Amino acid sequence: MSRLQDKVCIITGAASGIGRGTAELFAEHGAALVLVDRNEPGLNEVCALLSGQGAPVVGVCGDVSQAATIQRAVATALERFGRIDVVFNNAGIMPHGDLMAVSEETWDEVMAVNVKAMFLMCQAVIPHMLKQGRGSIINTSSVMATLTEPGYDAYTTSKAAIIGLTKSIAVTYAEQNVRCNCICPGWVDTPLNRALAEEMGGVDKLYPIIKKQQPSGRMASTREIGYVVLFLASDEASAVTGSVVYADGGCSASI
Ligand code: NAD
Repeated sequence: MSRLQDKVCIITGAASGIGRGTAELFAEHGAALVLVDRNEPGLNEVCALLSGQGAPVVGVCGDVSQAATIQRAVATALERFGRIDVVFNNAGIMPHGDLMAVSEETWDEVMAVNVKAMFLMCQAVIPHMLKQGRGSIINTSSVMATLTEPGYDAYTTSKAAIIGLTKSIAVTYAEQNVRCNCICPGWVDTPLNRALAEEMGGVDKLYPIIKKQQPSGRMASTREIGYVVLFLASDEASAVTGSVVYADGGCSASI
């Protein structure tokens, strides 16, 4: 079943984790893909894999917090495929550190990558979506936008801002059929969390925390998150805009 047949989709942070899992799923569902990431070898690998399977795919390497990268991604989508139907703003970083230890530089970087990049992308693609008379934007927030713990001040602030940006865009363009939603994943099995496990001294240290925080007792797979994004991207979600969709194994429902 091809739920995104011939839809042109830009995905950021596509070289790894949730972005890569979603790119693979979108390709299976007939999408034409513009994949964006600053990790060139990772990006080349996923582009080669998907084009080897017959998907129309092109990679754009660069830092999403730079307007030039966003402009290249949009120009590439229009030149190669002639339109932009879906944007999955997903690239993000999660540095850890006590509030008193967070440098101004780190704070600015988190806001630039996690929030400003989404603003730049939305500003660049919405005029094209308005001309087309339709479009779907999905932003990756986090369960940590509303539930947090010490040491993630910049990350939590950035993920909360994404919810505000999402709702603001949704209400502005709802009548013109440009939808904007965000997803709030809980624990997901990605390199980001594997790196965290290593920092903590191994997965054995991380798993008890996941079991305690996430009632499902396990991390979601990137494919499970990809299915949520697939729904929001597809015409099946035509009535859904401004929504904050939790995909967190019950984490946000738990005390
Ligand atoms: P990941 O580290 O596996 O992948 C992130 C990708 O983004 C990487 O390929 C990286 O190179 C790219 N990236 C980072 N900064 C970039 C930049 N400035 N320019 C271009 N590319 C950049 O991480 P993930 O776990 O897949 O996370 C993806 C998104 O999901 C992030 O926004 C993260 O905050 C969010 N999230 C993850 C989890 C989780 O449990 N993994 C939970 C909630 C939210």
